[in-house]
Amino acid sequence: MLEVSNLRFNYDPQASVLSGITFSLASGERLGIVGDNGSGKTTLARLCCGLLSPTDGSVTVDGMDTRDNDRIFAVRSKVGLVFQDPEDQIVETTVEREIAFGLRNIGLSSEEIEKRVAESLETFAIAHLRVRPCNLLSAGEKQLVNIASVFAMRPRYIVLDESTSLLDPVARKHLLIALERLLDSTGAGLIFISNRLEDIWLCERIALLEGGRFSFLGTRQEFLENLLKAGQPVYGLWLLLKKLMSHLTDSRDLLIACDEFDAVSIARALATIGSGG
Ligand code: ADP
Repeated sequence: MLEVSNLRFNYDPQASVLSGITFSLASGERLGIVGDNGSGKTTLARLCCGLLSPTDGSVTVDGMDTRDNDRIFAVRSKVGLVFQDPEDQIVETTVEREIAFGLRNIGLSSEEIEKRVAESLETFAIAHLRVRPCNLLSAGEKQLVNIASVFAMRPRYIVLDESTSLLDPVARKHLLIALERLLDSTGAGLIFISNRLEDIWLCERIALLEGGRFSFLGTRQEFLENLLKAGQPVYGLWLLLKKLMSHLTDSRDLLIACDEFDAVSIARALATIGSGG
């Protein structure tokens, strides 16, 4: 269980970036976190995997407190983080070396490393890229390699910090399909930080982060209904789409099409139409 309890965090003693954050995530569960720029999403992602320590409150991973320096490597091997920009994560020259990098760092035998690299390449359908220099990969391929590298570490929990936002629709679809397959087969828990409909569609619970606090945490259905009640037209549209989708075979394609317009733009456009503009 990944447990966040009454978490507060500040970079600067004058102002809290996060406060009063409480939630738990069992392995196998999927939590989506949405929120505007500057609301604290990346800070929360870093706290969940022990890259930052709480100012107050606690983050524990399978019972290990992330402030416990003796357990920090164990925590980091249990929680995998994928950044927004694929460039920020790649450290090695070729794809196979990149996937092996973390595995070497945790001291696995060369046979085990080879086995896991082959498995990851296969699962993410990137075996053809095995010896390709990383600097020749597209952004989508780089992000697939990043996720494949994280999964090769066999984390119990994975945190994706807007990891699909710089990808084109085809690369995104590819990545989401591979991710869902992996989550189903490994039973890992997922924290998916994203404002994209198709991403948080994977998650059964959604939290809304506003000004460093969760203003909402509930099921996806409750989230949509609440926003609809609050007069957010874009989510009304989403609800409508959901009804439509029950008659479609590939709902993901439709979500991807809608996501080509980001949520805020759709909301603004609908508001303009609503006001007769
Ligand atoms: P989000 O991911 O939702 O855009 P962040 O977690 O990146 O939000 O940032 C939350 C707030 O913390 C912002 O006001 C940002 O300026 C501030 N912040 C982020 N990183 C740092 C840092 N390293 N030092 C000081 N302030 C930071």
